[in-house]
Amino acid sequence: MKKVVVLTGAGISAESGIKTFRDSGGLWEEVDINEVATPEGWKKNPARVLEFYNLRRKQVLDAKPNAGHLALAELENVFDVQVITQNIDNLHERAGSKKVLHLHGEVTKSRSSLDPGLIYEIEGWQLDIGDKCSKGSQLRPHIVWFGELVPNMELAYRMASEADIFIVVGTSLNVHPAAGLVHYAPEQALKFFVDPNPAGVEGIQHLELIQEKAGKGLPTLVRKLLSESH
Ligand code: NAD
Repeated sequence: MKKVVVLTGAGISAESGIKTFRDSGGLWEEVDINEVATPEGWKKNPARVLEFYNLRRKQVLDAKPNAGHLALAELENVFDVQVITQNIDNLHERAGSKKVLHLHGEVTKSRSSLDPGLIYEIEGWQLDIGDKCSKGSQLRPHIVWFGELVPNMELAYRMASEADIFIVVGTSLNVHPAAGLVHYAPEQALKFFVDPNPAGVEGIQHLELIQEKAGKGLPTLVRKLLSESH
């Protein structure tokens, strides 16, 4: 079975109503990254950080996968598909994708601030001061903040290096190290980039740009790949 590796960013969830970070009107225009998405922000004001992610979580739980997420799940009928996402939402899983690696964590989970191995599903949308892990320390959002290491990166590099087809969707290729992942795909692998405003792809071999929103560009690409596989 041919292996398809898909790197997704905030853009794939935009049509589900979840704002991207860097687009105009995006989230970072409204909040200060340092306050809500860094270890220093957490130390300074954990209640503010919890409140920020509670609102993100509520939004994710209210959102639904769109045609882009659903098309990627359909690809699994014929290909071995590995999704690698920078997103913290769970829309790929809810669309039916079975293999999803989250690089930047998952907003629907919490983890111990003492032992990073203790990870829990959050019931409902709120995580509060006083919610503790089994070892008695405050729970924090299961998110990789700016300034923290991306623990799944080595795994992601290996996955990318095994791709026959590599698809990038809805990412400004701005946040490292995830942005460099496409360079780990084999040179001869077919590469597609679905994004209405693609950037940061200069010098990548065998790359086809699909300058469309994910909800339109991905179903078209998936139909093409499925029909060519027969
Ligand atoms: P980004 O905000 O930097 O870039 C978004 C990209 O999506 C842009 O290139 C834009 O042109 C494109 N885009 C906008 N609408 C689109 C659509 N309908 N279809 C396809 N593409 C579209 O996002 P990023 O590169 O993912 O990096 C930002 C960081 O923010 C990531 O680390 C991610 O974890 C985080 N983030 C996650 C979510 C989420 O979980 N849904 C939302 C916002 C940000």
